[in-house]
Amino acid sequence: MEINKVYSGFRLDRIERIDEINGTAYEMKHEKSGARLIYIDSPDSNKVFNIAFRTTPHNSTGVAHIMEHSVLCGSRKFPLKEPFVELVKGSLNTFLNAMTYPDKTMYPVASKNDKDFHNLMDVYLDAVLYPRVREDAEIVMQEGWHYELDRADDELTYKGVVFNEMKGVYSSPDSVLERQMMRELFPDTTYGVDSGGDPDHITDLTYEEFQEFYR
Ligand SMILES: [Zn+2]
Repeated sequence: MEINKVYSGFRLDRIERIDEINGTAYEMKHEKSGARLIYIDSPDSNKVFNIAFRTTPHNSTGVAHIMEHSVLCGSRKFPLKEPFVELVKGSLNTFLNAMTYPDKTMYPVASKNDKDFHNLMDVYLDAVLYPRVREDAEIVMQEGWHYELDRADDELTYKGVVFNEMKGVYSSPDSVLERQMMRELFPDTTYGVDSGGDPDHITDLTYEEFQEFYR
């Protein structure tokens, strides 16, 4: 490969040897979208793919975290309820997960089987670029928050996958302390809010705000 040449729409900017992993890194840029790509050529039998996005929330509704969950609930080519769960059960993956940080969200997959690796990439790329949640608000209600009422005389409560997950996180004194420290240290930046979602604020999230964040 040669510097400044274009491969499948990606221009090659830099080539660098990385001895620690016995590999060569190719830094490329997608000319049409501006997406950055790093390809590492190494003799490792484990193949890894990771797509990551800059996700910097302005409040603690957990929109980035709910986004991470929601895009894995079906897509254009894979319109099933939980492709992620099916992959965990039925693929030869050696790693499969998604995680939300204060300023980014990433979707890494790995496999030692070439066919499986390409399938995993296909499912993940379709999930993040064409998620069903763009048309289906109920996915956000399921993954984010919704009202729950089993019987008419019950008390109205909040439920939701991320809402419940974060209630668990906020019941740990250590994590409450850590979050308060972040709020005090970085009050005016994305690091001062909770990208995972504060249960007191998750229920402020609207589908419109969710869609805006995706765009
Ligand atoms: Zn989660």
